[in-house]
Amino acid sequence: MFDAIRNRYALTCPSQAGTTWVAVSAFRRVRRLRGASAPAVFRVEFDCECGQRHETLVSHDRLDWEPLGNESTETYMNLLTGRRELVATEFADQATDQLRKGNWPWTFWCHPESSMRPGFPSSLRFVTPEHQHGDQRVGVLVRCFHCARHTVNIVSRDHLDVPWHADPAIEFVSQVFDGDELEPEERFRHQLWEGPSRVQWLADAG
Ligand SMILES: [Zn+2]
Ligand SMILES: [Zn+2]
Repeated sequence: MFDAIRNRYALTCPSQAGTTWVAVSAFRRVRRLRGASAPAVFRVEFDCECGQRHETLVSHDRLDWEPLGNESTETYMNLLTGRRELVATEFADQATDQLRKGNWPWTFWCHPESSMRPGFPSSLRFVTPEHQHGDQRVGVLVRCFHCARHTVNIVSRDHLDVPWHADPAIEFVSQVFDGDELEPEERFRHQLWEGPSRVQWLADAG
């Protein structure tokens, strides 16, 4: 399940033999499991609070839709009605409202299309802390929801962890991430660290 208040998934920690709470920014690698469909299943590698890195399987529904809170069974005190009400109702209303306004729970810059595009946790390929900004930011390789091509984005942890939260400025690497002799992970790290030029996209500037 996804705790929509803390913005963390409940995933299994084999070392602690129990559940641990994992934010999207603690993911390190996401791969679609070959052969699984309806629902699709993803292999998620994440850095656990226990200090180790684990791999677990997460279904597409859990990964991309649970964070929107529609399935949550938690309740909250509605101060207007004085009653406990389902968080899910509140979150579903919020999601409908946001989508109607043309907002998406997650957005990333697509360099090949020179445009902001919707994305999901399942769109992430690699995630790593970005030490140049004192660990406050995270570098991600994201597959565009629209054109399926890849771009390196540098975003805040909240941009990944909190659905509907969008950074006012997003840095990205202005180089096409194409297939060549380098492994995708090696190329991702090269683009992030040995840096071809980075460009900043500002929300206000459109
Ligand atoms: Zn663990
Ligand atoms: Zn695109």
